[in-house]
Parts: sequence; structure tokens; C-alpha cells
Amino acid sequence: MRNPISFLKEEYDELARNELNWKLRLLQGPSTPWCVVDGKKVLMLCSNNYLGLSTHPKLKEAAIRAVQSHGAGSGSVRPIAGNMDLHIELERRLAKFKRAEASLVYQSGFATNTGLIPQLVGQGDLIVSDEFNHGSIIDGVRLSRADKAIYKHVDMQDLTRVLDEAEEHNPHHRRILIITDGVFSMDGDITPLDEVAKLGEEHGAMVYVDDAHGEGVLGEGGRGIVSHFRLSRDQVHVEMGTFSKAFGVVGGHISGSQELINFAYNKSRTWLLSGSHPPSVAGACIAAIDVLENEPQLVQKLWDNTRYFKKAVIDVGFDIGRSETPIIPIITGESSKAKEFSGRLFDDGIFALPIVYPMVAKDKARIRTIMNAAITREDLDFAINTFEKIGKHLTIL
Ligand SMILES: *Cc1c(COP(=O)(O)O)cnc(C)c1O
Repeated sequence: MRNPISFLKEEYDELARNELNWKLRLLQGPSTPWCVVDGKKVLMLCSNNYLGLSTHPKLKEAAIRAVQSHGAGSGSVRPIAGNMDLHIELERRLAKFKRAEASLVYQSGFATNTGLIPQLVGQGDLIVSDEFNHGSIIDGVRLSRADKAIYKHVDMQDLTRVLDEAEEHNPHHRRILIITDGVFSMDGDITPLDEVAKLGEEHGAMVYVDDAHGEGVLGEGGRGIVSHFRLSRDQVHVEMGTFSKAFGVVGGHISGSQELINFAYNKSRTWLLSGSHPPSVAGACIAAIDVLENEPQLVQKLWDNTRYFKKAVIDVGFDIGRSETPIIPIITGESSKAKEFSGRLFDDGIFALPIVYPMVAKDKARIRTIMNAAITREDLDFAINTFEKIGKHLTIL
């Protein structure tokens, strides 16, 4: 008789042989600039907690208060009995922060993209997508069964070509959706959303931006990429984001017109069929918006640190590629060098992961660093000196 689960071990062993299996690091305690990972005190340079909000006293207090007033769980999905006043308050506060007519909160960013994209477009429609878009967008596109056309990364000439060709070869598409990350997480570069929006307007296409890495970072007071480019809601129809990165908690969200929100929550299966956030999550997310509104200096500090670190690593001779944001890749070349670099950093007290082929091109392996507002100058100098020392040792410098 055939063993129905023998593939589990075979496929895992295959991953392990090629060193493609994840070797998970263990974070023992909170995600702070200095934290304990695998029993060692290290400087954290790879968390998405850009502003340190995950340990902000106001967020922690709000989470505790919400548990005391509303309990540990919501008891249901939102369309049945799990639509709490805290969820509504969060959406109202988020819409105000984003200066949108309305907002909707999903369980995660991943659930937002996979739940909403297949409702906006389906068979007979066209999705036009940047080649480096996030995996949750790729899965949302797959679920949609729409035709898809990929354009070269942030290349507006190629986006124009794709849109023109689509019009020429298949003028019958019911709807067209242009979708892109706002900030790309491998290179830290920004999509020219103003130009994307203009092309969308010219071709009668919807424009959807996933701003997971732009929120808390770009725009006025960290309002994100739509604010950064001063675009209107008529130009960018869906602004999507997450509470799991700079906001320091968890949860996905969209902002736009009231029509968008009415459509989205009535149609998105991930929203309708999955339990709503525990009160602690909603409470902490509301507090995160409070902090962003009342402590704009955090975003300032993030950018001060970013500029300081970038200048220093460029001055010592590193290549940081196309980075325009606090995501700062240190290009090492070969994959093996990136892995060895990361191991040596950890031994010296710095936690930053290697990104290697097939996630990036073979000769563009890198250590991806993500800057944080809570890191001090002294710690940045320590990081810069350590990078320089290892870079020289591995003959990258
Ligand atoms: C992290 C991320 C997501 C997923 O968000 P979660 O809320 O963590 O599920 C989606 N899109 C992009 C671009 C991301 O970086």
C-alpha cells in the first residue's frame, strides 16, 4: 500500500538539502532595538516595527483596557455577532487619519488582498501588476481568474505598453485593475504612484496600492504613499495597508470611498467568514493611530536614523541599491557571502537576515536592514562599524 503522506518528508528533505528550509530564530521577549534572540542580546535590524509602537506604553495600556472592558475574544465573525464598538471606532479613526471617506479593517493584510482582489475583478477582466508585487497580491490575482499582465518593476514605459497592448488585443475587458506595492520590501524603493494614477486615469482603470511598508513612514505624519504624492481618492481607488508593520499590532485595512467599503465587506469572503479581531487588537490599533497623530516626532526620528545610517554605509563603500526608504539593503553579491555576513553579524550582536536567490537576482544577494526610530546614534555607530569590519573581512569593501 502507498503511504499517502510520504511526500511530507520527501519534500521537506529536498528543501533542507538545498538549504531552502527556514531555520527559525527565537525572539525571547519584546521586539525592541536591543532584544534577546536565541539566547543572545542583539541589535534588531530586521523587524517591521519601524516606530517601536509594538512596545509603546499607550498601545500596551489600550490592549489591557480593552481586555478588561470587552474580554479576550469577539465571539464571532463581524457579520453575525462579532461587530464590536471597538471595531467601528477603529475604522472611524483610521478613515479620519487617512483623510478618506471610509475605512474597513480585515483580519490581516494577506486576508485583505486575497479577499478583495478577486471581487474587484474576475473572468473577462484584466489585472495589470508590477513584477515584484507581494505574495498576497499574487495569490489574490490567482483567485480572481482575471487575465493578468505583468509590467517591469516600477517601469512606467512598460506599464504604458501593457495597457496599450491590452486595449489593442482585447478591447472587451470589462474592467482593468492596476495593482502595485507602494514601497517594495526587497529594495526599499517607492512606486511612482502619481504616474501610475495618471495612466490609470487615461485608460479608465482602477488603481489599487498596497502600502504595507509606506504607512508610518511616508507622507504627512506617516499617513502613507497617497499622502506622500498628494493624490486624491478619485485617482487611487483602493489604499490598502496593514497594522502589522509600523502600526505595531496586526490586521489589514483599506481606505477609500463609502461605496468601496460597502462593496468590500459585503463581498470579501476572508472578511465575512473569519472571526473578527480580539478587543485587545482593536484597542491597541486605535492607540497606534493616537500615537501617530500626537507624536509625529517618531516618524521624524525614523528618517533621521535612516539618513544617518545610509550616508555612513555609502561612505564606507557599500552598495544599497535603489533604496529610498528605511528599508536599506546592503548588497553582498553572492548568496554564500550574504549568509556568512548575516552569521558574523549575529555573532557580533546584530540581527539582520540575508535575502538570497531566488528572492532576488543571483548576483544581488543582500543583508536587508530595516531602520527603527527607537535606535540611538551610539547603536547606529556600533552597527556601522560592525558592517564595515565584516564587509572588509569578506572583501566586499
Ligand atoms: C506584510 C505585507 C502584507 C501582509 O500584511 P499582514 O497584515 O502582515 O498579513 C501585504 N502586502 C505587503 C506589501 C506586505 O509587505
